[in-house]
Amino acid sequence: MSNAIPDRPALQRAFDHALAYLEDLGTAPVAPRATLEALRGALGRPLGARPLAAPQVIDDLVADVAGGLHGSQGGRFFGWVIGGGVPAAIGADWLTSVWDQNACLHASGPAAAVAEEVAGAWLKDLFDLPAEASFAFVTGCQMAHVTCLAAARHAVLRDRGWDVERRGLAGGPPIRVLANADRHGSVDVALRILGLGVDALRPLALDADGRVSPEVLRAALAEGDSPTIVILQAGELNCAAFDPFGDLVPIAKAAGAWVHVDGAFGLWAKASPTRRALAKGVELADSWSTDGHKYLNVPYDSGLAFVRDAEAHRAAMTIATSYLPAGGGVARDPIDWNPELSRRARGFPVYAALRQLGRSGLADLVDRTCDHAQALIDGVGALEGAEKISGSSLNQGLVRFLAAGPGASEADHDRRTDAVIAAINASGEALFGGVTWRGRRCMRVSVSNWRTDADDVARAVAAVHAAMVATS
Ligand SMILES: *Cc1c(COP(=O)(O)O)cnc(C)c1O
Repeated sequence: MSNAIPDRPALQRAFDHALAYLEDLGTAPVAPRATLEALRGALGRPLGARPLAAPQVIDDLVADVAGGLHGSQGGRFFGWVIGGGVPAAIGADWLTSVWDQNACLHASGPAAAVAEEVAGAWLKDLFDLPAEASFAFVTGCQMAHVTCLAAARHAVLRDRGWDVERRGLAGGPPIRVLANADRHGSVDVALRILGLGVDALRPLALDADGRVSPEVLRAALAEGDSPTIVILQAGELNCAAFDPFGDLVPIAKAAGAWVHVDGAFGLWAKASPTRRALAKGVELADSWSTDGHKYLNVPYDSGLAFVRDAEAHRAAMTIATSYLPAGGGVARDPIDWNPELSRRARGFPVYAALRQLGRSGLADLVDRTCDHAQALIDGVGALEGAEKISGSSLNQGLVRFLAAGPGASEADHDRRTDAVIAAINASGEALFGGVTWRGRRCMRVSVSNWRTDADDVARAVAAVHAAMVATS
């Protein structure tokens, strides 16, 4: 009798396709080439009346998505803040699917619960967060905001004698939210989901470096005495600005406010001895959101929430039912900390990535990507007709491209910038995104992938130069 399992042919095909994909990253175009119509034509098959052989489904899927994938797993993808996957994390992610644990309770996924418990403690240590802080492995930073801000909502209303979990928001003291004016849009979504509403937001004006100053925060806090949440930022998307936490957090705390930090990628600066100072004082805050799927280079579906006041966090998230056997105060049940009930055991890839990298590998990942970002920004900025706009204190920055001629207007420079970005992306050699920053079109440079090396940087600068020539 053979040991062959019915799954083997399809999984073997998937494995072979996966390796072939990774092996092609150096030569394949970085930007997708397939049109919307082509993808709809390929994938938009009628749903079959009868089953298909699983290996054929896999082969068809690979053929049908051809040209419709971003080369973000490779070293010359500099668009948005995406990141790739380190091998141990990809492998652990595959196993997570195969094991298919329901990581809601220790009882439903014992090893999954413990892997999260261990990885959560490692992360708190890496980020210098308080040992007593609670945490949750969620889908992304936006859901980490929801989780942290639900805890914040609980705590600031509890302090005014209002039980929001029982009574809801209506009729309670209105919460005001003071937030960095350059905050990421996911903060606003979290406020909407939590019923606080974006009208609760008071944007905090920024200094020339994109940071909230103590004077601005003090003045905003003095404007009222409603329950207050202050939202600061570690790593702004375009310039990687960090708020001066060491100055700001004590001011907010003295006013009784809860301080939340969006550290989607910037919190990882803490893992590098040479960049740590950027996030100085961030550990003084009350809650922190970050991503595993960006800078840690684990596959998507990985956000991380940390909360100093574990009781507030638990009060906001826990579910008490009799049919679910609780960990009894001994085991850690993710369900006490997560917004989901049934959920993927997404702690495994984080655990595996951290083990593969270790402290020095993680510091090196941060330092290397920052150095490559700097080299890219400087390399492109030095090209005739290009201009460096910001960066890079971390792994993000901006450049733009200038239209020729003495009479060129800002609008001409904007058009030129978009044209060069489009030409680079069309070349397939590298991918960058565009952004309107302080009223001007710019090209964003984001280096978040562990694979990016000096050759990728040189190839990308050459591709930018070629695109500038081709479009001039
Ligand atoms: C990407 C990002 C987010 C949102 O994270 P998701 O993982 O996409 O939910 C929030 N803040 C910043 C600064 C980001 O870069």
